[in-house]
Amino acid sequence: MPRSEAPRPPGIERLLAVVRPRVVGERDHQALLALAHELIDAERGRIAGGEPGRDLGALADELVAKLERLADPLSSGLVNVINATGVILHTNLGRAPWPAAAIEAARAAAAGYTLLELDRISGRRGARFRAAELHLIALTGAEDALIANNNAAALALAVGLAGRGGGVAISRGELAEIGGAVRIPEIIRRSGARLVEVGTTNRTRVDDFEEPLASGRARVVVRVHPSNFVIAGFTEAPDSQAVAALAHRHGAIVVDDLGSGALLPTERYGLAHEPMPSERLAAGADLVMFSGDKLLGGPQAGLIVGRAGLIARLRRDPLARASRPDKTTLAALGATLGLYRAGLAQAEVPVWRMIAADAASIGARARAIRDGLPAQVRPKVTVEALDSTIGGGSLPGEILASFGLLVRAGSASRLLADLRRGDPCIVARIAEGAVVLDLRTVEPGADSVVLRAVTGLIGQ
Ligand SMILES: *Cc1c(COP(=O)(O)O)cnc(C)c1O
Repeated sequence: MPRSEAPRPPGIERLLAVVRPRVVGERDHQALLALAHELIDAERGRIAGGEPGRDLGALADELVAKLERLADPLSSGLVNVINATGVILHTNLGRAPWPAAAIEAARAAAAGYTLLELDRISGRRGARFRAAELHLIALTGAEDALIANNNAAALALAVGLAGRGGGVAISRGELAEIGGAVRIPEIIRRSGARLVEVGTTNRTRVDDFEEPLASGRARVVVRVHPSNFVIAGFTEAPDSQAVAALAHRHGAIVVDDLGSGALLPTERYGLAHEPMPSERLAAGADLVMFSGDKLLGGPQAGLIVGRAGLIARLRRDPLARASRPDKTTLAALGATLGLYRAGLAQAEVPVWRMIAADAASIGARARAIRDGLPAQVRPKVTVEALDSTIGGGSLPGEILASFGLLVRAGSASRLLADLRRGDPCIVARIAEGAVVLDLRTVEPGADSVVLRAVTGLIGQ
C-alpha cells in the first residue's frame, strides 16, 4: 500500500483569517502573527512525532483560547491560594497577604499618575514619596528612614558603608543562610566589603570585637538576628548595647539586621519576644533593617531606620537606586504602616489577625466545616488541635495553638496534590498519614470553599 502524504498544517494566513473575526479588540498584527507561527511550528513538531494533524478549526480554537488567556489578568500563572498549612508567613506562598488598605493604595497608585517625586507646592522635583518613611520615623523613633526593594538589598546597601575593602565584623554565630541559598557572608563580600569573623559559632563575647575594631580592621559591625534557627546549649551572644558602645568608642558603625522585626510586641500573643526596631535603636544601633513582608505584614520591601547622616549616605549610593521600590510598593507600605500608627494593625493586617486569632474560635470554625460535610464524608474528617507556626524566617520554634481538619481518605499524598491542583488551589500538609488543613491561615470567609473542596474530592 502506498504511504499517504504526511498531513501538513494550514498556512498562517488561512489560520489568522479564521481567528481574526473571533477575537475582540484591536489586535496588533505582529503579535497575532507570532502566536500563529508558534502554534503552527508546534503542530509541525507533533506531526513529525507521528501524531495526527489537526484541522483548521481545532487550531483556530486553540489560538483563540490562547489569546483569551494572555489577556486575562487572573491567568498569569500566579494562582490565588488558600493557605491551609498553618504557616503564617509561607515564603513559597508569597509571605504576607496585604491588608485591604494596602491593596487599595497600590491600586490607586498603579492606576494613574502620582506625586511620586513632585513637590505639589513648588512644582519642582521633590523627595521620592516619603509617607512610608515618615511613618517609620514616627513608629521607631529613628532620625530618618529609607526603603529598599527588600531586606537583603537593605543589608547589602548598609554594609557598603564600610567602603571597598573595608572590614565588616560579624559574630560567627550570626553567619546565617537566610533562605533560598542566600548567605549573609556572601552578601557582605558581594558589597565589596571584607568579612571579619568574630568569636565562635556558639559563643561570642563583646571582647571578641575589641581587636578588629581597635586595629581598624573593621569599620562596621553587623548584627544579624538569628531569625530562622536556634542555637541552644552552651551559648553566649554579646549584648547589643555593649557591642554598640564598643563600636562607637572606635568610631565604627553598628548595623542591626532584624530579619523580620516586629512593630507589635509578640509576647502579647504568647510568642517569644521578637526584637523591635525601636529597642535596637535605643540600644545604640546606628542602622536597623527589617523586611516589609514578614511580621510587618505588608509588601516586599527592606526598611532601614537610623541615623540621619548614614541614611543620607545610603540614599546617595547608586545601589540605593538599583534597589529602589516602585510607586505601588511605596503606596502599599505607607498604607500598611498607617494602620500601625492608627492602632489598627492587629485588626486590619492579616498577618497579625492570624496571629491574634484565638484557638477556640478557630476550633469552632473547624467544627462548623465538619458539621457541614455530607454524611458520607464526615466520618473521614476529624477536628484536631494543631500547632501553627510563624514561618518566613521569623520566631523559629515558636508555635500558636490552633485547630484544623484531618482528612483520612485513601492516599494522603494524592489528596494533597488534588487539593493543590483544584480550583481554588488549596495548599495543606501531611501528618501521620492524614491531610492536615490548619484553619489559622485560612481567612474565615474561605471556610465554605474548603468545605466544598473536601466534599468534592472525597464525597464520591
Ligand atoms: C529574611 C531575612 C533577610 C532577607 O529579607 P528579605 O526581605 O527576604 O530580603 C535578611 N536577614 C535576615 C536575618 C532575615 O531573616
